[in-house]
Amino acid sequence: MAQEVIQLSTSEVDKLIQYYKQQKIDRHAPGVVFAAKLPAVAITVYKSGKVLFQGNDAQIEASRWGATTSKDISSAAPSPLKTKGDTLPPNFENCSVIGSDETGTGDYFGPVTVAAVYVSSEKIQLLKELGIKDSKMLTDEKMLLIADNIKAACPHSILVLRNEKYNAVQQKGWSQGKIKALLHNKALLHVLNKISPTVPEYILIDQFAERDVYYRHIQNEKEIVRDNVLFSTKAEQLHIAVAAASILARVAFLKEMDKISNEINIEIPKGASKKVDEIAANILLTKGEKVLKTITKWHFANTEKAKKLASAKKNAR
Ligand code: MN
Repeated sequence: MAQEVIQLSTSEVDKLIQYYKQQKIDRHAPGVVFAAKLPAVAITVYKSGKVLFQGNDAQIEASRWGATTSKDISSAAPSPLKTKGDTLPPNFENCSVIGSDETGTGDYFGPVTVAAVYVSSEKIQLLKELGIKDSKMLTDEKMLLIADNIKAACPHSILVLRNEKYNAVQQKGWSQGKIKALLHNKALLHVLNKISPTVPEYILIDQFAERDVYYRHIQNEKEIVRDNVLFSTKAEQLHIAVAAASILARVAFLKEMDKISNEINIEIPKGASKKVDEIAANILLTKGEKVLKTITKWHFANTEKAKKLASAKKNAR
């Protein structure tokens, strides 16, 4: 990703903050005093007066505020991305890649979803222009908008594991790691079949397990994707195919959450927090255990907490 760093005086920093205040975003990171997000550049202002511009328009936007400086202050930029997993080949970000990612595994309500997306090298620029980046950096609304564009532009597979199935296999003793590995393998197979006879230069899986563990989980599958498979954490930031996959997985999750909320007429929350316990208790009292079980990951600690809350509420009546 293109980036520029400049050093500004206090008064220049004030001017810059004033200038971008409409695009201000919250970023709570050490030393950061202000952050803003424009369509093609992210701006981070540090206490030291150093300003970091990241994205396609980094240079253009930075030049508004004076010449970009040379190496001596490059230390202002955050240290390079720390990832675990495979070392990627040079120029990896411009290769033709199938990326895969999942979501929903930490959420009590709603499914686990996995998506895989093939992005050929010619499509990379287009996807960048669509504003595709790490799903954690995008709002839900923005993701809903770009998901359709990704689907139209790229061969993909989206798998939704609803909780009835999830709970059944979980009770059979499958770990979340195994569930995820099976879904990733399946989604990758779908995409490989769709693009055949084309083969991607690489496949990049957003790493949730070490390679050996991953392949142990899927060792009994009929077809196992092995060729040119790479694993890395933070993979959404290493190739746009994984960023696109993270968006499709997230959007599938959000849509399913909406669908469930509509069906039971209660807005179900993401995550696994206290609020989740309370809503779950409410569902227990109004709809019963059977309904709650079909829409949650039943083995989560939230189930017991919700049951306690529900019986306390019942007794208080
Ligand atoms: Mn991931």
